[in-house]
Amino acid sequence: MDVKTSSDGELDTRHLPDNIYASVVHSLYADAQSLLVGVLSIAVAPLVLYWKTTDNIHLVFSAFFLVFGIVRLLLAKEFEFKTNSETTREEYEKWENRYVNISSLYVGLLGFWFVAGVLRSDDPFVHLMSFSLALCYLIGVIGRNFGSDKLVSIQVLIAICLLISGLVLLNTYYHVILAGFLIPFFIAIRLMSARLRKILFDSELRAQANKVIATRFDTALENVRHGIAMFSRDGTITVANERFLTLAGLEGENIVGSDVSILNATGNIASQDEAFSARIKTYLSSRRSQKFNFQLPGGRTIEADYNSMDEGGVVVLSDITERVISEKAIKDLANFDALTKLPNRRFFISEIKRVLVKNGQLQPCAMFFIDLDKFKEVNDTLGHAVGDKLLKIVAARLNVVLKARDLICRFGGDEFVLVVPGLYDVDGCANLAEILITQLSKPIEVDHHSITIGASIGIACAPKDGKTAEDLLQYTDVALYDAKAKGRGTYTFYTEDLGENIRLRRKLEIDLRQALEENTLEVHFQPLINLKKCSITTCEALARWDHPEHGNISPEVFVKIAEESGFIEQVGEYVLRNAIVQCASWPKNVRVAVNVSAIQFYRSDVFSTVSRLLDEIGLEPGRLEIEVTETVMLTSFDDAIFTLNQLSELGVKVSLDDFGTGFSSLSYLHQLPLDKVKIDRSFIKNGISDQRSYTLLKGVVELTKNLGLTVVLEGIETEQQLRQISREIKIDEVQGFLFSRPLSAHDIRSLLGAQIEENRAIQSEN
Ligand code: C2E
Ligand code: MG
Ligand code: MG
Repeated sequence: MDVKTSSDGELDTRHLPDNIYASVVHSLYADAQSLLVGVLSIAVAPLVLYWKTTDNIHLVFSAFFLVFGIVRLLLAKEFEFKTNSETTREEYEKWENRYVNISSLYVGLLGFWFVAGVLRSDDPFVHLMSFSLALCYLIGVIGRNFGSDKLVSIQVLIAICLLISGLVLLNTYYHVILAGFLIPFFIAIRLMSARLRKILFDSELRAQANKVIATRFDTALENVRHGIAMFSRDGTITVANERFLTLAGLEGENIVGSDVSILNATGNIASQDEAFSARIKTYLSSRRSQKFNFQLPGGRTIEADYNSMDEGGVVVLSDITERVISEKAIKDLANFDALTKLPNRRFFISEIKRVLVKNGQLQPCAMFFIDLDKFKEVNDTLGHAVGDKLLKIVAARLNVVLKARDLICRFGGDEFVLVVPGLYDVDGCANLAEILITQLSKPIEVDHHSITIGASIGIACAPKDGKTAEDLLQYTDVALYDAKAKGRGTYTFYTEDLGENIRLRRKLEIDLRQALEENTLEVHFQPLINLKKCSITTCEALARWDHPEHGNISPEVFVKIAEESGFIEQVGEYVLRNAIVQCASWPKNVRVAVNVSAIQFYRSDVFSTVSRLLDEIGLEPGRLEIEVTETVMLTSFDDAIFTLNQLSELGVKVSLDDFGTGFSSLSYLHQLPLDKVKIDRSFIKNGISDQRSYTLLKGVVELTKNLGLTVVLEGIETEQQLRQISREIKIDEVQGFLFSRPLSAHDIRSLLGAQIEENRAIQSEN
């Protein structure tokens, strides 16, 4: 608080705050009792002098003192009666002036009494009595009126003037010297009262400032959103705001002054956290600052922030429920898959590490890497929305199978990983894998579609197969790969051999991509011979890969790698382009046949690729044959028929390859736009020894021929096979090592050139 001082450094009442000024004026009128005593004793004193001198002037002064004294007392009563909290500063100023006026008159009267005594009497007692009474009064001024500078100054000035005048009138050196001594005395009186006044004002100002701080603190305490309580070192509650009481469930109670243990006896904290007051007591004695959380009934979370202070401690309670909820949501977002609500890969890996090692010991467990079969087809054909719903149902089914301690996560796409702590025996793992496959193979209803997928599972166990999460994941992935290769819907346990195979396969995949980029894949051609005309009608394009380390790798192996690794489309186009380019350089009556795998057929737009390449290279569509197997029909019959019809309409010939190895469905012969049926070479191999298959072969050939299709028999290796077959079965074309092995582009061109020469020679002989 800022209070100005006067030029001589003393506090000036004009600059005092209103309330302090009011208390100064009150101090003037206070203590009516001592005033009464003073008034009476001063009124009696002139009577004593009258008794001694019989001078009537003393009776007059006694009467004056009494009258003025009574006026002062009445004024004090009136002040007491008329002032209250609404009295204005101006009114107080009037009251101060009134007091100053009457007191000045009073002290003047005292001074005049002394002067009169001096002038009318030589009696030293008379002089001493009036002089000392005036001095006593002045000393009383310090005690009673120090609050008003104006009052003190005027009274001292009047008293000085009159007392000094009286002493000078006595007209001796001694009295003049005494008068001189009075001056410092009067100055001292003024200074003393100024000093007292300063002490009074300072303490008033300090009290006022403290009151302001206390009010602000109270307001702050009651308006904060936090519950605040303070404790003295012995555990007594010294402060508790409303919010604290609300959070503690003690609204309206007065707990200030009680021991902290009252919080354990009743209210919210008691029902939820018995340890609350025990904690506070511990922190109070250890002078430790600490944060801790506890729950209120209804599930709200409260954070208690305890801070040690010199004289005890303060605890701030904050309702952090919303923060806890949003922190959990953020954590869930980071750790859980939004679609299936299962843990995501990142969170799962950290969890596996926790499960794998407990108290520094490796725990046995089994890991299952689950991959949904045919999920991609569902996504591609029915759309992602259906795919998403399907994944949710799969997650729910997995959850049903799992036990609480098992860990599961959506590893990505249609892959799920499951960890079962404590499971490591083969039978137990196999049993669980079967249950999982059975559950996931049951039809799933999504948006009126009944979808049957299935699952393949790779299994690895800790610590037998691997000791770290990373190893186990890698091994289950390897085992899963094998399960899928086995035809899906099954499970495989990880073995070291499997790991070796997989590593080899991965290497081959990389090398195959490189071979494709560097154009080092070759296309060889194997002729198909028309038996009647004894001439080459078609050459089948067969891909060849001469691996720098592993030598020749069968197309059956690397086509599968390309299919599984998702680049069969590129391999297919590579072979198709080479085949068409070569065929364009052959005699016009020779066609080229190109194999198209079922996956390639399903994943790429074969029709567009074929028509684009034919157009680009400039080959008549009629000179191209596309060889497909029955598996093309198994994935999506309608799509297959549609594409084959498109090809057929373009003029491209369609052959059904490897007939007799799959379902050998005779209905395909009727429904597909076929030109040729190629009987698989296994018929030849078995036919000679197995009479039943031989009879079957004869029937199929007859039926095919009746449908107007060309029949080709693959795999003829010996003269004997040829003789036997051509005697008993009416085959149109043959293909086999007996006639020619697959030849390089250069060699097949030479062979075809030689055939032309031969034909010309025959024609000229005829
Ligand atoms: P495929 O289409 O049935 O091709 C005929 C396979 O039989 C060829 O094997 C050929 O060398 C073999 N072969 C022909 N005559 C005889 C014989 O008298 N005795 C024996 N033991 N085998 C004979 P290859 O070249 O190893 O191809 C195997 C399979 O790989 C092919 O069977 C075909 O399904 C696939 N394939 C080859 N090249 C490609 C290609 O470029 N694309 C696709 N999608 N598949 C291809
Ligand atoms: Mg073929
Ligand atoms: Mg074949």
